[in-house]
Amino acid sequence: MTRRGRGTAAALALALAAGCRAAPPPPTARHLVLVTIDTLRADRVGVYGNADVATPALDGIAREGAMAVEAMAHVPLTRPSHVNLFTGLLPTETGIRDNVSPAVVPDTPLLAEVLKAAGFSTAAFVSSVVLEPSSGLNRGFDTYGARFEGGAGDARFLGTVQKKGDVATQEALDWLEKRGGPSAGRLFLWLHLYDPHDPYEPPEPYASRYASRPYDGEVAFSDALVGRLDAALGRLGLRDHTLLLVTSDHGEGLGEHGETLHGFFAYQSTLRVPFLMRGPGIPAGTRVRSTVRLVDVFPTVLDLLGLPAPPEARVSGTSLASVLRGGSGPAEPVTYAESLVPLLHFGWSDLRVVREGRWKYIQAPRPELYDLASDPGERQNLASREAARAAAMRQGLGRFLDGEREASARQPAAVSTDLIEKLGALGYVGGGAPARTATPGADPKDKVEEFRFANEAIREGLLRLHAKDYPGSVARLKAVLRRGISSFEVHFYLARALRGLRRFAEAAGHFEEAARRAPAHGQAWEGLADSRAASGDTEGALLALRRGQQALPRDAGLRVAEARLLRGLGRRPEARAAYEAALPLAPNNARLRTQLGELLRDMDAPEDAIRRQREAVELEPTSASAWNSLGMTLGGAGRLPEAEKCFREALRLDPSDHRHAYNLGFALVRQGRPAEARPFLEKALELNPRFTPAREQLARLR
Ligand SMILES: [Zn+2]
Repeated sequence: MTRRGRGTAAALALALAAGCRAAPPPPTARHLVLVTIDTLRADRVGVYGNADVATPALDGIAREGAMAVEAMAHVPLTRPSHVNLFTGLLPTETGIRDNVSPAVVPDTPLLAEVLKAAGFSTAAFVSSVVLEPSSGLNRGFDTYGARFEGGAGDARFLGTVQKKGDVATQEALDWLEKRGGPSAGRLFLWLHLYDPHDPYEPPEPYASRYASRPYDGEVAFSDALVGRLDAALGRLGLRDHTLLLVTSDHGEGLGEHGETLHGFFAYQSTLRVPFLMRGPGIPAGTRVRSTVRLVDVFPTVLDLLGLPAPPEARVSGTSLASVLRGGSGPAEPVTYAESLVPLLHFGWSDLRVVREGRWKYIQAPRPELYDLASDPGERQNLASREAARAAAMRQGLGRFLDGEREASARQPAAVSTDLIEKLGALGYVGGGAPARTATPGADPKDKVEEFRFANEAIREGLLRLHAKDYPGSVARLKAVLRRGISSFEVHFYLARALRGLRRFAEAAGHFEEAARRAPAHGQAWEGLADSRAASGDTEGALLALRRGQQALPRDAGLRVAEARLLRGLGRRPEARAAYEAALPLAPNNARLRTQLGELLRDMDAPEDAIRRQREAVELEPTSASAWNSLGMTLGGAGRLPEAEKCFREALRLDPSDHRHAYNLGFALVRQGRPAEARPFLEKALELNPRFTPAREQLARLR
């Protein structure tokens, strides 16, 4: 839409708003329930025109409430897209471009934080490791359910590090049951379902019902889970007071444009998402015709909950409250989207998208222009035929890329140094008007076959790594490198396989390459340090950890790794400094405080040790090992009655650990209470018959 067109629409909106002035204030919702169904294409939902997938729950929400006909994500990746949704900011502004990214910077307000400050009880139940607390998205949530099987390092290429949707949904229902009811305080619940993400393995009856279409089966399964959640809202008396929003973070290629999954191209197959909302004041059957963007969620939700809008300058989204309440719609916005994976992971070109109404422009070495109204599948590139329009839209991209430069200047820590360098080489960060910069690197359109080969070989290499078939893993990953394809993943997994073969020097080389490509990935730095230490290069190991800390100044794990290494080398004062540097970065980490306490105990600073270990048990009162460790420090300082209490607590929490029983018995012996001590010493011996100290103490009691 042209500038003039937008102005006319805005004037019309004002006129309509003036006409409604006498009406009473619109009803506001008391609670918010947000469901993000990962990887859900809009066109797989019944109400979006699909007759082959049963989605009665989603269709019902659209019938009873509102639906955005056209809704778009800004990036086809889980973590950055959710960050857009929870901040109201574009990827160019948050600096979160990839699933391997530093946490959202603390001074960026998140939806959950705003709601918590307004008195809401807040809980999230997420189903993918990509949204683990290191994403920073847990900020503002009282409860953040994020436990998965598998390791954090493999999330991107192996979708198996996930939770089944029925488990996450049950956790959400349990949370609601405890807080629901007519007298409930205000609630914010976020449920994240990961099932439509690959691998597609729907449970029965969906597996049989959609035997040849497992993705659709996962969609139908997810719909049933939304239905289960909605039924619980009704049962708990929350339904009429709840704003329910169901949307997705991105779609799925499903073979369109040669893309199987998502995260490579920037076509509507992976950018278009469903957007359904129901709540007080939203008339049944409302349809939003303008393009809805995920950054609009933040201001819209606050409006509908009757909370003040966040400062205008901080949010790129626009509130849709007026149109959702049956009023006039906003002017058609300009929508920005991107895919940086081809650039960041493979050194090919990035893709930048701008959409205005029916027109969509993709900046690439061979630019693309589509008329989505007549060609929703983006099959006919009109960039040459409509050269003037393409040029104008390319200019329009400049506004968003300016925002990117400002964000990098304002919060440099949010963007990895590597990314800044790569974007800088393209002219996106710092000087030069981006619209005039040619985009170097190969066109992703020419690389989709290579990408698919690499993806499959890397996945196979990773599966073999997990199965401890290290030679098999090395063979697969080296085949990728031989084809001239190189990425963070190849080096990271290859390094781990080589470490498994105890080829530490080679492993270190590939960890180094991985860290260079993704400096925001702490595990690459830790792996580099481990491998160097294992081959006897402790100074090199320390250097690796310190370089990692520079790239990730807020990462506590790298400081703890440094502290452990120094402690092992007997360099205690330096170890202490490293632990203490980690403290403010991990204010809730009990284990860190226990370990620091043990070090301080070894350094003959018992009072400091006790203080840290008391913090640990306060933070995690159910940790038996934290209580046991505190007891040992107190016992060492001669404070036996206090030590006795700690050991009793440790034993109560974990009665199966012979050390807890022995320590309690020994503390009683030292207090001259042998009769009381005996049963605990016997218990220790019963738990571990080869535990000599217990046998010796018992012998002395006789
Ligand atoms: Zn996702």
